Amino acid sequence: MENCIFCKIIDKEIPSEIVFEDERIIAFNDINPQAPIHILLIPKEHFASLNNIPEGKKDILSHILLKARQIAQQEGIAENGYRIVLNTEKDSGQEVFHIHFHLLGGRRMTWPPG
Ligand code: AMP
Ligand code: ZN
Repeated sequence: MENCIFCKIIDKEIPSEIVFEDERIIAFNDINPQAPIHILLIPKEHFASLNNIPEGKKDILSHILLKARQIAQQEGIAENGYRIVLNTEKDSGQEVFHIHFHLLGGRRMTWPPG
């Protein structure tokens, strides 16, 4: 997708600190971390938001979630806990319209979210 910053990260046109990559997804450090661990996980295929994932592509969601769990284990935050955030469309605060899961951990989170 042209002019998509995360597609450019996938294509390595924009540098990022990649923590995991396979044929379907990539995970990299958020440039403006909101917690000691703040990693974004995205599919390599461009979908603007959760609203745009077709039924036939739903497997990518479980793949990303289970990879987030694995990364949390590797980063040492699995036991204490972590938060996975999927902002969807404008009321959520979504700013980058290439679906991404935030993996946040390393500190105590508050509830309700802002
Ligand atoms: P959201 O508000 O859910 O759309 O989150 C977008 C996230 O992308 C924010 O946490 C940004 O800090 C992050 N972000 C934007 N540009 C980059 C980039 N070039 N590399 C890493 N993270 C980025
Ligand atoms: Zn994209």
